[in-house]
Amino acid sequence: MQLYSTNNPNHIVSLEEAVFKGLPPDNGLYMPTNIPTLPKSFFDTIENLSMQEIAFEVTKTLLKGYISDVDIKKIIDEAITFTAPAVQVHDNIYSLELYHGPTLAFKDFGARFMSKLMAYFLEKQASNINILVATSGDTGGAVASGFYKTNGIKVTILYPSGKVSTLQEKQLTTLGENITALEIDGTFDDCQKLVKTAFLDAELTQKLNLSSANSINIARLIPQSFYYFNTYAQLKKLGKPIVFSIPSGNFGNICAGLMAQKMGLPVHHFVASVNANDTFVQFLKTGEYKPKPSVATLSNAMDVGNPSNFVRIFELFGKTADGVRNAVSGFSYDDDITRKITREIYNKTGYLMDPHGAVGYLGLMDYLKTQKTELTGVFLHTAHPAKFIDTFETDLKSKVEIPFELSKLANKPKVSIKMANNFGDFKTFLLKK
Ligand SMILES: *Cc1c(COP(=O)(O)O)cnc(C)c1O
Repeated sequence: MQLYSTNNPNHIVSLEEAVFKGLPPDNGLYMPTNIPTLPKSFFDTIENLSMQEIAFEVTKTLLKGYISDVDIKKIIDEAITFTAPAVQVHDNIYSLELYHGPTLAFKDFGARFMSKLMAYFLEKQASNINILVATSGDTGGAVASGFYKTNGIKVTILYPSGKVSTLQEKQLTTLGENITALEIDGTFDDCQKLVKTAFLDAELTQKLNLSSANSINIARLIPQSFYYFNTYAQLKKLGKPIVFSIPSGNFGNICAGLMAQKMGLPVHHFVASVNANDTFVQFLKTGEYKPKPSVATLSNAMDVGNPSNFVRIFELFGKTADGVRNAVSGFSYDDDITRKITREIYNKTGYLMDPHGAVGYLGLMDYLKTQKTELTGVFLHTAHPAKFIDTFETDLKSKVEIPFELSKLANKPKVSIKMANNFGDFKTFLLKK
């Protein structure tokens, strides 16, 4: 697999380079020079394959000639250790539960695959790296868990002291080993600035092999396509075209679905469901992309005013608004309606949705209302309700089942290094590591 920069089609790099650099130097995004399609025979018998078998076939098709089948299989088996069931909520509506991984959110797919892929390359190079991540809460947990005990990789996570939930903090600070949590006396923006400054510091970049694990890394998109194929395998027997509704923030998840479609996956239509941060929905309406500052909502993992994967999606459809509109519709919802639908669906069916899943459900229903043919509707349920238990009203809170992965964290001691918002201190710390 080779990749080019969306800012310069002549800037071409290997997968290895794209994975470790994350971003091209010209600030574009890496895109595959060619998206291969899977053979018809694969789709004819896909219902007989497990998630791991599907993941293997998809990855093999993308990385053929670059990584051996044996190594691909090893990466998949180590990364994809959990399932993603499509659960019927009512009628023709299914919830694709992406929260059965170790941190109970869909980001486990991306973080785990990326860590195993990096470890594979590092073993070949006989080198090691230092990963720096700033987190406002959720991403850090998936990265910490995904890279835990991965050979050749040390991870430093910076988080704003007192500004992440107790649960999120436990996910960052209880692992130890190759994961270090820095508790910064500042905001998320301060943490991000410290990381950015480190990447620009000549001494640090020379002495330490620095890398990032941010969400625009191509290694996070590949595994996010697996569950679209796997859903098709589960629901093919219903015999109706499938619509996917994706609760979206940075638009990486939906971008992976669109890539799966380019690889030949039969999908009737995609719906981008967003909260009050509606930059993409406005783009569909006006044809103009106008980023804006983010606003805080219940579904806070989607509070993004300038979705970083927009450029990739625009690129996939020949850089025309109509091209995007043909494949994707978009809807935006406020917190009141998100709360209301959560309660309504729970009362009617007993199925409890987290606020991100609820936004996905709303967009799916609004799109289906506009369609005359019979379709199967799937909304991506990106986080376990227990992760967002604080957002539920009292009576619903008591209905949330706390999975063992979360309850066991309560007793583990928090270990963090407190640090002022000061680059000199951060640099000294890194050089001593
Ligand atoms: C990150 C996240 C999203 C948004 O996914 P994008 O790929 O950024 O669009 C949605 N829901 C949850 C729970 C998330 O953690």
